[in-house]
Amino acid sequence: MGRRKKKRVQPKRIVRKIPKVFMCPHCSKQSLRVSVNSKPSDEYAVAEAVCGECGFCARFKVPKLSQPVDAYGKLIDLYDSFQGDIEAEIRAGKCIGELDGSREAGKENESERLSQREEE
Ligand SMILES: [Zn+2]
Repeated sequence: MGRRKKKRVQPKRIVRKIPKVFMCPHCSKQSLRVSVNSKPSDEYAVAEAVCGECGFCARFKVPKLSQPVDAYGKLIDLYDSFQGDIEAEIRAGKCIGELDGSREAGKENESERLSQREEE
């Protein structure tokens, strides 16, 4: 009791959510920002990749604790296997990937909830 607290030293925490920048698979510019966010309640994390140059965007699930570089690898696969017109998606402001607006019927609207997350 009455123990005086020493001056609190605040340990500098390394912020993990810094978006990393990669090469955009669409315009080949080094301006694709990839970030991975997860909520404790979900069993997966959500990766988001947005190109500041051409507007390319992808949003998809990745295993928890994935690093942006892991997500980037998956993004490249997604891009390669994408069947639609990416230009049209970009113009429409849409993201490709599992978590774009294309909801499967009967599934809960999880993508909607996730897209409403604000940037911290
Ligand atoms: Zn781009």
